[in-house]
Amino acid sequence: MSNLRFHELRPSQIRAVREKFPVAYLPMGTLEWHGYHNPVGLDGVKATAMAERFAERIGGLVVPTLWWGDHRGILAEVVFVRPEFDHRPGIAEGHGLSIEAFQEDAKRAEADGGWTAYEAVLRNTFYELATFGFKVIVTISGHYPLMGPASRAAEAFNLAQRARVIPIIGFDLVRDRFQGDHAAQWETSLMLHLRPELVDMGALEPDRSKPLVGVMGVDPRGTATADYGRRGIEAMTEALRAKAHEALKEMGHAVPAA
Ligand SMILES: [Zn+2]
Repeated sequence: MSNLRFHELRPSQIRAVREKFPVAYLPMGTLEWHGYHNPVGLDGVKATAMAERFAERIGGLVVPTLWWGDHRGILAEVVFVRPEFDHRPGIAEGHGLSIEAFQEDAKRAEADGGWTAYEAVLRNTFYELATFGFKVIVTISGHYPLMGPASRAAEAFNLAQRARVIPIIGFDLVRDRFQGDHAAQWETSLMLHLRPELVDMGALEPDRSKPLVGVMGVDPRGTATADYGRRGIEAMTEALRAKAHEALKEMGHAVPAA
């Protein structure tokens, strides 16, 4: 079956997959600056495309991506990574928006309970997916800071033994060979492999003496390739396959022979 999106399938199609391999992939992203060369939805777009690859190669179904619930109070988390270079003015300028508007919203979001609502949405989603018959739920935090609330919600939910949640980012499964970054070599390569039509490498500043605004990690200029992205995807798939099989066994579900 080529379409593995739960929400686009009829009940009989869902049953055919779920009864054999009851694994759901929940992609999570946010809207955040990822350089002039990548779309602002990179994290969610990447997590969705990864989920579709995993479902195709490992088994299971992809459920709708969770885009909202975070806030853009600091424009991009990347602003804190290297304090000697302030990315904020460049990002605000690139958006054509004021830094102040984002900072004001950060205060409002904190006063409104921070991650509390996001964790509640995740907890409810896990119960809903367990009710739909899934035994293993893989959350894919395309935006790395979502791993915090995902892990906390998973820990609380897993105690109930209704299903097993495995929270991942992606590169965390293959840290021995690959390193995560923000809009740099790793993320740009994943996009060049998964969704090349959304990337414009020509939009990168050609003068290498100038830092790239809101890009952190190995400079993607001349290093980001679709092939590097493909190798990353293949490594993550194999690592996740082992984890998913182990979790299915723990939940008492037979794992299909390789
Ligand atoms: Zn990202």
